[in-house]
Amino acid sequence: MLYDITRTVRPTTAVWPGDAPYRVDTAADMEAGSSVNLTTLSLSPHTGTHADAYFHYTRGGASPSDMPLSAYIGPARVATVSRRDGPLSPDDFAPSALAGVQRLLIKSHVSGLPDDQWPSEFPYLSVMLINALAAHGCVLIGLDSPSVDAFDSTDLPCHNAIRDAGMVNLELCQLRDVPDGDYELIALPLKLDAACGSPVRAVLRSLRE
Ligand SMILES: [Zn+2]
Repeated sequence: MLYDITRTVRPTTAVWPGDAPYRVDTAADMEAGSSVNLTTLSLSPHTGTHADAYFHYTRGGASPSDMPLSAYIGPARVATVSRRDGPLSPDDFAPSALAGVQRLLIKSHVSGLPDDQWPSEFPYLSVMLINALAAHGCVLIGLDSPSVDAFDSTDLPCHNAIRDAGMVNLELCQLRDVPDGDYELIALPLKLDAACGSPVRAVLRSLRE
């Protein structure tokens, strides 16, 4: 079974307040006699389900084209948290949810919101949780929240801790229909140079077909 855990990108898809919404312009239109339909896209790479690049919060940091590709494919675990807002600590998870986890996808109330609704509250990470996951050998943390840090954070301790641990993150995953458990994750960023992030088509594949 394949679970699509990607938000649909539409002009109405909610983006970070002040960020550019997704926009489609028509360069050629078959209805108007053109031989093809041709569109031009404009979007923040943080629209919908996406991978942050280190360049997003690091001077001279990696663009999506240079992020460690292997982190975005492989064994992953979905774990639900009941916390609706504030930082998540290891205590928000059953110990079995963290033991030996290579990629952790955290499911919260935000997955239940429609694509066009920005969450007024959302859980995010803590440096303590990131370091605990790094100690387990975890290489990726995915959230359904729009940020791994608090909405009003400016020093971005969790983004920086992820980079310092050599990990990567996904944001705005859509995990509503996915039961907790172990899967294979495939969520590759586009090979974009000079960008601060990339949309991903994120899917989870059941381990037992
Ligand atoms: Zn982001």
